[in-house]
Parts: sequence; C-alpha cells; structure tokens
Amino acid sequence: MLYFDNAATTKMSDAAINAWIDVSRNNYGNASSIYSYGKRARDILSEAREIIARCIGASSKEIYFTSCGTESDNWAIRQAKSGGFTDVIASKIEHHAVLNAVGQLQSEGYKVSYISVDANGVICLDELEKILGAEKHLVSIMYQNNETGLYQPIQEISQIVHTKNPDSILHTDAVQAIGHSSIDVKELEVDMLSASAHKFNGPKGVGFLYVREGLEMMPLIYGGGQEKALRSGTENVAGIYAMAKALEENILNLDENNNSVKLLEDRLLEKLHAENVKFAINGNANQKAPGVLNVAFDGIDGESLLNALDAQGICVSTGSACNSKSKERSYVLEAMGIDNDRIDSSIRISIGRYNTSEEVDRLASCISKYAKLVAKANC
Ligand code: PLP
Repeated sequence: MLYFDNAATTKMSDAAINAWIDVSRNNYGNASSIYSYGKRARDILSEAREIIARCIGASSKEIYFTSCGTESDNWAIRQAKSGGFTDVIASKIEHHAVLNAVGQLQSEGYKVSYISVDANGVICLDELEKILGAEKHLVSIMYQNNETGLYQPIQEISQIVHTKNPDSILHTDAVQAIGHSSIDVKELEVDMLSASAHKFNGPKGVGFLYVREGLEMMPLIYGGGQEKALRSGTENVAGIYAMAKALEENILNLDENNNSVKLLEDRLLEKLHAENVKFAINGNANQKAPGVLNVAFDGIDGESLLNALDAQGICVSTGSACNSKSKERSYVLEAMGIDNDRIDSSIRISIGRYNTSEEVDRLASCISKYAKLVAKANC
C-alpha cells in the first residue's frame, strides 16, 4: 500500500506509539485519583501540556485537551454564546467542523457572514474589513486549507479583526498546519487555535484547543471537573502524552521533514512533466504547504483516477476526508471560482514524512499510465 493521503490522517510515529504504550502499560491510573499513582497520571498530563504549549509559543495554562479537531472547532465556535456575541464570521472554505458549528449558531438566530476567497484560495481581506463593524465578532478563519494546502494570512487577519474591536475573538482552525508549520500563537495574535493529533503523526481521538489567557470560556462538557471544569471527562492520558510526543518530534524535525516532503513533491511534478501528463495545480503553488497538491488532470475524471490508483494499492483523495465519501463537488474549489470540469478532474495528493522517492516514482508512473489509457480510449 502506498499512502498519499496525509492530509486525511497520518501514520503514528514511533515516538507517539512508544509514548502511548508506555503510559498505557505503566501509568494507567486515573488522573483524578488522589493517591500517588493518580498523581503520576496528573504529572504526565502536566508534562504533555508543557510540551504542547512550548511547541506553539503558548503557556501551559492555555492548552485544553479535547477528543479531536472537530471538538476543538465546535468548542471555539460555541464561545459566541458566552461572550455576548451576535455576529459570527467564517470563510467559505472552512472545514465542515467549523461550517456546521457556525450553521448551528445561524439556526439559533446568530448573524453569520461567510467571507469569499480569491482564485488563489486566499480570503478577501477587503470583504472581511467591510463586514466587520464596531460590534464584537467571533471570527473563524483556518490557517491552512485541508483540500488545497493553501495558507491564510492569519497575522494580518488578526490585526484587522482586533483593530476593528479589541474584544472580538479570532479562532483559527490549524488542524492541518500544527506539526507541519512553525506556529507561534503570540506572534499570530489569535485568541483560540484548534489542533488534532492524528494530523501530525499522533493518535486518533485526541486534540487540543489553545485559548488565550484571560478569555473566559464556556464549559463544553459538564461533569467531574476535568480541564478546569470546562471539559469534563476522564482524560485520555496515553493519547494526550502520545500527542505531545508526536508534536515535539515533528517540531524538532520541522525543516528536515518539510524539505524532504518538498523534494518528493518536486520529484513527482518533474516525473509527471517528463511523462507528458497534462495537469495544473489548483491555487497558488507558492502559498501552500509542502506536500499537499490539489491537481487537475486534463481530460481525466478525478474519481476514476482515484479508483484506478486504489486498484494499484495507492491512496489519494478527491477532496477532504469527509467530502470524499459524498458525491458533492468540492465547495472549496467552487469558492475559488474553479469550473466544474476542472473540479471533476482534480485529486488531492498529500505527501508525508514517511513517503519515499520510489513511492513517488510509482505514483507518477501509475498516473501517467492511466492518463495514456484515457487518452487512447478517447481517440
Ligand atoms: N479542520 C480541518 C482543517 C481538518 O482538515 C479536519 C480533518 O480533516 C478537521 C478540522 C477535523 O479534525 P478531526 O478529524 O480531528 O475531527
């Protein structure tokens, strides 16, 4: 099996697996128990919180553990309910975890605005400026899009949002970027940030929400008082520790990982060019994360290509992990003004740190063979 769908999920690193096994085997106590064995679990949680905070330039008091990116996003968006916000703003290309949470607020009577993106997938800052009034807004703009890998200018967005009203809140869904980009929440000046371990070689079912100190949060889950009584439920100590270790390792090797992924991406594009495959990258290739390629192949149906690659044991995607199950066209590519034919001929290839040049060569060769077959059939 050749795995080129690292934006959907990633293989757990050895650092994460070993951390998970070690805690599960040796420190399985409940972090709420008062005896020493429980304290050990609490200490592990504190260490994990410290590690994660350090990796994103936060203080450990600002990290809240959750079960996934979706939960972090939902919690952040629900914050509109506590702080007297009536206006919520999101971009049109947010993940469903944000869009559907915002949609729920809309159905409850909140005023919701969706900001457009340009042909490069970057949100229209003038539109944002125009929509932002003097009132308090909750704004949610993703750091990196999951279908295209394109980045948003979050620091600039933060300045716009906070200049209009310092009490407005900016949340960024950084689920795709954490562990792959150098992110400092203080430099970005975001109020909340969502992350998910399985996107950076950690386990599934665990994530975190960064919340700027001083921002009063509304409890998400009521119960035994864990996570400062804001998100109750017995902590997933092994998962949380594995998440911290995965993030720590990825951040330590950030440049090395990104360079190797970029080399593989370049190699793939060169091979496709050499094989005369006609394709175009959706979005500005200079504003995207290394390794994530949303590519339209001339005259090829993306889904048929995906199935042909699957038959060869190669995993790619036609969009986000959730979109790829439905037959809907990508709303992200539509928002970028890409026409239906091109959307239908697009697939997402996302290269990760465990891919090799041999695998990339095989992928290029399989795509090329398929493109030739289609061209011959159309003659
Ligand atoms: N936000 C983005 C940008 C994502 O790509 C994803 C997952 O694909 C999520 C949120 C949801 O994260 P999780 O799968 O951890 O719920």
